[in-house]
Amino acid sequence: MAEIVPCTELHPIPDGEVRLLGAVRTVTGAMTRVDVPGARVLVDCGVPQGADGRGFRLPDAASEAHALVLTHGHLDHIGSIPTLLDRGFDGPIYATAPTLEITALSLEDGLGLQGAAPREIERVLGRFRALAKPVPYDRAFDVRGATVAFREAGHLLGSASVELRRGRSRVVLSGDLGRPDSPILRDPNTEWARDVGPVDLLVMESTYGSREHAHDHARISRDLEAILRSAVQRGGHVLVPAFAVGRTQVLLWFIDDLVESGRVPRIPVAIDTPMGLAVTDTYQRFRKLYDKESLAKLARGDDPLDFTELFAVHRGKDSRRLLDHDGALVVIAGSGMCTGGRIVNHLIEGLPDPRTTVLFVGHQAEGTPGARILAAKGRGGRVQVGDREVEVRAEIAVLKGLSAHADRKELTAWMNHLPGLARVALHHGDEEAQRSFAAYAG
Ligand SMILES: [Zn+2]
Repeated sequence: MAEIVPCTELHPIPDGEVRLLGAVRTVTGAMTRVDVPGARVLVDCGVPQGADGRGFRLPDAASEAHALVLTHGHLDHIGSIPTLLDRGFDGPIYATAPTLEITALSLEDGLGLQGAAPREIERVLGRFRALAKPVPYDRAFDVRGATVAFREAGHLLGSASVELRRGRSRVVLSGDLGRPDSPILRDPNTEWARDVGPVDLLVMESTYGSREHAHDHARISRDLEAILRSAVQRGGHVLVPAFAVGRTQVLLWFIDDLVESGRVPRIPVAIDTPMGLAVTDTYQRFRKLYDKESLAKLARGDDPLDFTELFAVHRGKDSRRLLDHDGALVVIAGSGMCTGGRIVNHLIEGLPDPRTTVLFVGHQAEGTPGARILAAKGRGGRVQVGDREVEVRAEIAVLKGLSAHADRKELTAWMNHLPGLARVALHHGDEEAQRSFAAYAG
């Protein structure tokens, strides 16, 4: 039975040590350094978000690494890369090809939101691309004598767990782990070599370490069908605030499935987020990494992320034109918690209209406009969105279960596939989730 250790920074391994430089007791800011003889490897270089990020300074131990290895392109795993580069890091940056693309898009978007000038953004992206080294899944590569490989993590297209071996040490870092049976994505890897020694240490995420998801694939599909059908009857806009990276694509998959099978009427669906469009494009170019179900759809001639009524809105002026569209229309736009982006104008226009449906598909953090709108569900009232205060007469709907993270049962099942696992260092979960998981699985 593996020993499960919550909220701890330093973990010894046979010939070295593993140090959590971020996400020790929180969900964001993942950053871990693995030291083995001859190699200091940094896995992820995230930025802590929200309240966790106040006073954050990149630890020197990060910039002293020889190489950076990325698990996936979400900002909480890659957002400190610009600072790392400014501190003089010039080692290779390894990731799967889709992760490198999504990382570049996320960095561009993140720097833009911080107000960086276009020339500055181009400079950072140029440096990043010069160091980037794409590596396919399951192909071992050498980092100063350490053998490293990416394994499917099923969280996002291109997302990976990292396996590192050197001498007597074998370490696995889960990265963010998806749920088995998620649309588009293959399930997290469960086939680990049994003839190369036991796994000394697993560094594992624990976002849902204290919870179990109640909604499976079929239930999500049924719930979305009911919400869309009733929205179409109301005849107004369906406004979906959605995160561009991962969430937008999963949602498109479910809508495509409902439309193509005739379970919901064929109404226009707008992707009104440049970032969401760019990431969807990356998904489509790496479709060979889709799961069996989506590959089968492609083979039948059905693109699982496209249908006749779907259209892309690139320009801001076309986004504003959507506001005048009369009749049923689905608009998917960022930001996911309504803090900014194109969804804001849609909400200002749509919230006072009783024909509108606002559909939440993800967690709304306390203090965000999204949380305020959610609190008005069923009782109305006025809410602040952008720089305006508007009356809520729209229907507020919530689609549950679209999480891209494994729950405690799924984490335990995944972890139990690792041969000879001795110790589990939990990270990327709040303190309560980590302690609860240690008690549950220990
Ligand atoms: Zn993630």
